[in-house]
Parts: sequence; structure tokens; C-alpha cells
Amino acid sequence: MGEIVCPVPLGDGGKILLAHGGGGRLTRDLVERIFVPAFRNDALAVLHDSAVLERPAGSLAFTTDSFVVRPLFFPGGDVGTLAVTGTVNDLAMSGARPLYLSLGFILEEGLAVDDLARVVASIASAAREASVAVVAGDTKVVERGKGDGIFITSAGVGVVVAKRPVTPAAVRPGDAILVSGPVGQHGVAVMAVRDGLAFASPIRSDCASVAGAVLALLEAELDVHCLRDPTRGGVATVLNEIATQARCEIGVHESAIPVGDDVAGACEVLGLDPLYVACEGRFLAFVAPGDADRALAVLHARPETAQAARIGTVRQGGSAGLVVLKTRAGGERVLDLLSGEQLPRIC
Ligand code: MG
Repeated sequence: MGEIVCPVPLGDGGKILLAHGGGGRLTRDLVERIFVPAFRNDALAVLHDSAVLERPAGSLAFTTDSFVVRPLFFPGGDVGTLAVTGTVNDLAMSGARPLYLSLGFILEEGLAVDDLARVVASIASAAREASVAVVAGDTKVVERGKGDGIFITSAGVGVVVAKRPVTPAAVRPGDAILVSGPVGQHGVAVMAVRDGLAFASPIRSDCASVAGAVLALLEAELDVHCLRDPTRGGVATVLNEIATQARCEIGVHESAIPVGDDVAGACEVLGLDPLYVACEGRFLAFVAPGDADRALAVLHARPETAQAARIGTVRQGGSAGLVVLKTRAGGERVLDLLSGEQLPRIC
């Protein structure tokens, strides 16, 4: 008689047990019933100590990130969606096509197996959309109270397809600054759930892969100098980072930066400035001035970047590291870095 196999839910009442991270039978059950079927690919199916991958021609982009968002689930995504999109977007920011991901899961004892399965399904779906394969993973379990449901650490590998380095050092005076869509949705979506705010229609996170839009810009042979996704700290923080790294002054127009009415309203209630609120499916592009209109046309042709806008310019001369906001009222003010953490555990 063959081994009696219990159906999922695994273990005690469908909860994660310490033994699920112990390397024994329960770990094997978790891997074979939850992870492998969801992420199905040849490299993972070998279930060896490391994945063996085909090496593409060209330079590799390699990145790592951790995801500790609270709550785990929010309108438009969850910690699993973020783990995929956050990692592939960082690869895309180097002008790379994302290829492979590894994911390390730190689970808290008592987590519902159904919640894990839901997160894993989100990962599989986001990976499919971004055309990346989850080729390696690890699971550990910590005692109840020593974690917060699920933490995920990722690594990602991509192949650089940009013909010239896409980096802050390539930013030039006169460059046009584009944003790929309305800002601040992710941070507001998470904060609204956390603060128990109810809006007429819930604000959805923007979390999504931007790799397709970036590849479209590169395939159109546009002179893209630098890309960066405005995650923690939002657009204002990223502009400050680039102004400092590229040793230039940046001017942006408040009225040109797209902010949804719902996000603007929620920011009023929450006391937030949308320019500092995290996005997880947007990017800023610094493009040679002669290519700005064509770049916008490429973005406008895609649904996910249909609201892309030109928001400013890298100024000739000026003060290195300075970001100046031309306000709606017509004045100018310095758009500075925030001191301290505005929104903890947003990604
Ligand atoms: Mg980034």
C-alpha cells in the first residue's frame, strides 16, 4: 500500500508550523504542493541545491530586495506581487530584461497556509506577466510573535539590453524628465488599509512590472540616459538622489506631475504629500531633449503608461544636488529630502 498523502491544507489545521521550516517531511510537502506547482519551470523542477541557468549574451544586471509590507494584502496586490514587481523593476532601471528570480520566505508560525498559497499565486501571476522565472527559493519558519506573517527576500538577474549604460552618470543638462504615470497610489493604498480609511472606491496600489514599457523605450532606440522607480520616498526623493548622483540641478513643474484625484484627496486626509509617497509600478526617465516627444509617444501607446507626462528638465548650470519645484501658484521652492521615515513598512 502506498503512502497516505494528506491533501492541502498541510499540518495542523492549515497553519504553518515550525516544522515546515525544519527541512523534513513538512518542508518537502510545502515545497512540492505549494511552491513547485505555482512556479513550474525546468530550472526549479530539478529541486537541487542551486538552479543551473542558460547564460544570455551580454552584461547581467543583479539586484536584491526585501519585502515586509504590513498588511500582507492590500487593494491591487500583496507582499508576493510586490516581491516580483519590486525586483523586476529594479532590473529594468538598469536597462535590463528581467530573467530569473530567487525568493526567500520567512514565515511566522501560525500563518494560515491559505494565506501563503494566496501570496504564492500572486507571485506566480506577477512573474508570468513580467516574463521572469522563479528558479530558486528557501523557506524558514520563526516562532509565533517573532515575525509578521510573511517576509520575503528576493534576488533578480536580468540581461542588459540598453546599448549605452542607463545610469545617473549619463544624465546631461537639458535632459527631459518623464514620469510613467500618476504617482503615490501604492503608498496611499497601503496606508488607507492600515488606518482603516474607507473611500467610495478603494484606492488600488499601482504595483506592476514596468519592464515592458522600459524595453519598448529601448527598442525604439531612444536616447534614455537614466531610469529610476520612485518607490520608498516617492518622486521627490528619487529626484534628489539623481540630482546628487549626477551633480546637477533639476527643475520640475508641480502642475505637470500626474496625481489622481482620489490619491490627492486621501493625501489630504492622511497628511501626506503625494510627491513623497511610494509608487511600485512607475518610473522616471531622463531622456535626451530631442527624444522626449518620441519617448512620450511610445509610453502613451501602452495602457500601463498611457498617462505618462513630461514633468521637468535637468537645468543648465545651477547647483549640484538641488531640486526646484515650480509650484501651481507660480513660485519656486526647494523640493528637499524628508528627514525620517514617512511611511514605514510600505514595501
Ligand atoms: Mg529602485
